[in-house]
Amino acid sequence: MIKTIFRNTFLVGILVLILCAVLFFGIQYSQVKDEAYDALRQEAVYAEQGLMLSGDAYLQSLDHANRVTWISSDGSVIYDSEYALPVASQKDCPEVQAAMAEGEGEGIRKSESSGENTMYYARKCSDGTVLRLSRPLSAVRQALIVVSPVMWVLVLVLLISGVLAFRVAKQIVRPINDMDLDHPESTYPELAPLVGKIREQKMTIQEEVSQRESLRREFTANVSHELKTPLTSISGFAELIAEGVATGDKAKEFSKDIYKESQRLLALIEDIIKLSKLDEDAVGPEHEQVDLYDLAADVLNGLRPAAEKQNISLQLTGDHAEVSGNWQLLSEMVYNLCDNGIKYNHFGGTVTVDVSVQDEQPRLSVEDTGIGIAKEHQKRVFERFYRVDKSHSKEIGGTGLGLSIVKHGAQYHNAQVKLESEPGIGTKVILEFPKNNG
Ligand code: ADP
Repeated sequence: MIKTIFRNTFLVGILVLILCAVLFFGIQYSQVKDEAYDALRQEAVYAEQGLMLSGDAYLQSLDHANRVTWISSDGSVIYDSEYALPVASQKDCPEVQAAMAEGEGEGIRKSESSGENTMYYARKCSDGTVLRLSRPLSAVRQALIVVSPVMWVLVLVLLISGVLAFRVAKQIVRPINDMDLDHPESTYPELAPLVGKIREQKMTIQEEVSQRESLRREFTANVSHELKTPLTSISGFAELIAEGVATGDKAKEFSKDIYKESQRLLALIEDIIKLSKLDEDAVGPEHEQVDLYDLAADVLNGLRPAAEKQNISLQLTGDHAEVSGNWQLLSEMVYNLCDNGIKYNHFGGTVTVDVSVQDEQPRLSVEDTGIGIAKEHQKRVFERFYRVDKSHSKEIGGTGLGLSIVKHGAQYHNAQVKLESEPGIGTKVILEFPKNNG
């Protein structure tokens, strides 16, 4: 920012200086040029008088700061201070022609002998010859630049403006750099909207942090409670067997219970690990093209034994639809939805997975003919450990985390989750993926 302010301020300074310099030197130049003509004219007048009195010996005695050419009335050169005779006829030179016709002539043109732009002044003498004095224009310019003190002043001003521009830039930026981001105050009224935005964002972040903190605390408390329940049962059953209270068939039954509770515990721990991975965005960046139809077929195959136990028919309808995503996570999401469709179904019911593309959006829905979810529970079932019927859920081995994983997984894939359910009729969960995802 300092650089930009400095550069812009300095550029404006340079531009103003250049304009001033052009204006000043333009005026100076025309003045110096007029003065140079005056000097040539004056010298020509003196030279004519000397020439008329003492002949060309006088011309030779001059110190020749300017070139002096003496030209006869027919244009041939009688004397030239810089070139040895013969010098080409000067009859066609405009200033010589003007001098012959009107008594004097002047002008700036390229000299044929030196090739330089040159100022000429020619004067007709009383005997009809022409005396011409000339000076290269570069000498005039040189004098203007080197001699002019203004040029040095301009250089100085340029340096000073550079230093000032840098200091101004630093001064403008200092209050912004010094701003206390914990308690932002705007030093400039122009920054008030930005400062307001920072304050707002700070508050939002603080709120989010404290909300996350309380959710985490609640989650930890819930996890401890959920883990404790199966562990208490396991420990109780094991104690009864160890002390010989349960023997024979009873011991067998208790062992089965221990196995069931351990399985539940394992499922719970697996779900907790998945959720904390999602919380930390540690799912991994592996995104690939996933065909939802093939994925659903795979998931349904895995669930077939569980469905058969309940005589539930699994169906897959629709067409292929690709999304870009994490195969493992998508598979877990669809698994949880189908697993719920079986768990919360009636004996002999149906679970239908449909894959389609609607309005360019890939969609996957899982519909069952099960017990359904009452309106008041529909929003809450996506919360962690929320179960509609706690005792029944425990019996069928639910962890209360399945739909949480679906919700977080959907967020990870920028997908929408919609739930439609009617108690006694069934439930339909729809995953709607963003456009151009595939
Ligand atoms: P769980 O492991 O208990 O199934 P979920 O997070 O998957 O946990 O589901 C939360 C609760 O929502 C379940 O305990 C159940 O009460 C209810 N639920 C989920 N899916 C269905 C469904 N398809 N039909 C009826 N109720 C369901």
